[in-house]
Amino acid sequence: MQTDNRARVLDYPVDIVDLSAALQKIEGYWASRQSAHVVTMNAEMVVQAQKDRHLSDIINGATLVVPDGAGVVFAIKLSGQAGPDGCVRVPGVELSLSALQAAAKKGLKVALIGGKPEVMQKLAAKLQTEPQFDGIKLVAAQDGYFDKAQEAAIIQNIADMQPDLVLVALGVPKQEFFIDKYRHLFTHSVMIGVGGSFDVWTGTVERAPESYQKMHLEWLYRLKKEPWRFSRMASTLPNFALQVLFKMVLLRKGLR
Ligand code: UDP
Repeated sequence: MQTDNRARVLDYPVDIVDLSAALQKIEGYWASRQSAHVVTMNAEMVVQAQKDRHLSDIINGATLVVPDGAGVVFAIKLSGQAGPDGCVRVPGVELSLSALQAAAKKGLKVALIGGKPEVMQKLAAKLQTEPQFDGIKLVAAQDGYFDKAQEAAIIQNIADMQPDLVLVALGVPKQEFFIDKYRHLFTHSVMIGVGGSFDVWTGTVERAPESYQKMHLEWLYRLKKEPWRFSRMASTLPNFALQVLFKMVLLRKGLR
């Protein structure tokens, strides 16, 4: 079941929800024991999807698509789809942390997949010791560098634990392909692709300071810290902005 307040960003669905509404949706999936794929959408992902039919289909078929990036929020506002309550970012790193805390409170089963082995070790220890995660049932803590030949068996073992929440940190689009491939095994799990969130939660990678977040410049901070992202961003962000502006001009002229 998809949500009722969906915008389109360059023909991709994005649900207009804030953090608490997105969390409510997730709690609703748990309550109805429904399997769900939550996508955290940003401008880079939109442009990647335009070039990749498989990714495009996955996004179109996702249960919930939250506006993770400032570019996506900007596009929704510019096109007048934000509605009376506006549209705000729902950063994946925050939504998935809230989902973990909610799962802990409810005593639900959680599986973590992805990240470097040492990061996963740190994260598993954090979840088992910090009071904010009291009650959590961690049923799998699988790093993302396993032997490909063993992948099917590893994932089947995790699915057999019937987790309620599965966080997959393999980066975009690998994590989306992964969730799509194995979703049929996780019959009542909420599955979220969380990118580098495990690195952030364990302090392995620093998230942008609030000043950057407030100015919608989190992407710039990431670029400063991880310059290898330049070519990926340079080939997607201007492309996204131009397409959004072009579409707005066409709309204003009544051509679309
Ligand atoms: N990763 C992994 N296995 C892989 C490739 C990547 O577990 O084969 C992890 C990597 O350790 C990192 C995350 O995936 O924790 C990707 O983080 P990034 O911030 O690059 O994600 P994105 O920018 O794509 O959201």
